[in-house]
Amino acid sequence: MTWYPPYPLFLVQCEGTRVRDADGHWYEDMIANYGALAHGHNHPALVAAVTGQMTRGTAPGGPVPLQYEHAERLRALNPSLERLRYCNSGTEATMWAVRTARAYTGRDLVVKIDGGYHGTHDWGQVNAFFAPQRTAPARLAGLPEIRPAAGVALSTAGDIVAIPYNDLPAAATVLRGLGEQIAAVVVEPVLGVGGGVPSAPGYLAGLRRLTREAGALLVFDECATLRLGPWQVKHGVIPDLTTHSKIVGGGLPLGVFGGREDVMALFDPSRPHPVHHAGAFGGNSLSLAAGSAALDHFGTDEIAHLDFLGDRLRAGLDAAAASVGVAGRSVGEGGLSYFHFGSTPPRDAADTARLRAGRAELRSLLHLSLLNAGFLTAPHGLLCQHVPTAPESVDALVDAYGNALHDLRPY
Ligand code: PMP
Repeated sequence: MTWYPPYPLFLVQCEGTRVRDADGHWYEDMIANYGALAHGHNHPALVAAVTGQMTRGTAPGGPVPLQYEHAERLRALNPSLERLRYCNSGTEATMWAVRTARAYTGRDLVVKIDGGYHGTHDWGQVNAFFAPQRTAPARLAGLPEIRPAAGVALSTAGDIVAIPYNDLPAAATVLRGLGEQIAAVVVEPVLGVGGGVPSAPGYLAGLRRLTREAGALLVFDECATLRLGPWQVKHGVIPDLTTHSKIVGGGLPLGVFGGREDVMALFDPSRPHPVHHAGAFGGNSLSLAAGSAALDHFGTDEIAHLDFLGDRLRAGLDAAAASVGVAGRSVGEGGLSYFHFGSTPPRDAADTARLRAGRAELRSLLHLSLLNAGFLTAPHGLLCQHVPTAPESVDALVDAYGNALHDLRPY
């Protein structure tokens, strides 16, 4: 959600890690287009790649060698992508991953995390943290009720089972109770919109075991967590399918889904009933050119730098809150951080909702204070670093937080 009261800034110029609004104010950009812009704005290599590609063609309506060049770079980061396909966004990537899992298993049910965000398609907008228009009972007692967003059919929502994040017993109940009907479990390795909650040690390995037992596919939505290395490489838990977006397009729209070769073989057009994949702009040349240039500048050093900045930011924010006597905690992993009011970090989306309840005005004032201090942050608390961010910029943001929290103590 990019709207916030009283009205959002309109951004007219972007340079490196900074953006300028229509009134001429410059801000240090701590949103990085919700994690997509790891390289900052207008990185020279990306500008050269995109302008060069403009002269050779944008989207010719057929396969282009750029797809192989990009895929090789991405597979170097994430080897579990034995086969991969291109689309335009994270929304499309997760939509395709679930369709692939349904085609592979011949099953319809999808298990998602309560408060998990996977984009704007219909199944993704069920239990996706937003206020629902209506609700339906869960399939099994004790699970979160089903909450489709406004405009999503209850029939679509009926194919979704929502489980609380970081709750392996709940996952075991579902996968053992409904296992033969479940096509996929879809999970973010760090629960993003649901509060920046890292997965607890052993949680995703547990889901790996349970999905294997149930014959369901495990899908990691690593649209946001590629900046961690991606997560699966850093932590050594390998899903059947993965989705990527954001950084992979170098600032242009691009989505990727892929994984096990035998599963992705369903798209082979010489098979009797292949999965039909189309899209006029999926894997277009401009996005691939930008994405390849981005991935050329996104390796071990850049990821380590983001990790370093993220650790520094979270430690600094916790110390700043403590020093002014405000109950506030940072959470997250690597260059993906969140700040919450409250003394206990959230473990799942229900915790996040409890921490946010009754604090909308406080959070809004914090956001506006940071804007006044020259930092563009996400209103819901997300903070992302860019690779070119200097440690001093992180320290300056921490100081701005400290000052804002000090001023907000009366609230
Ligand atoms: N999955 C995750 C984990 C995301 O963070 C996002 C974007 N915030 C999406 C999917 C959707 O991606 P897009 O906005 O490109 O459709």
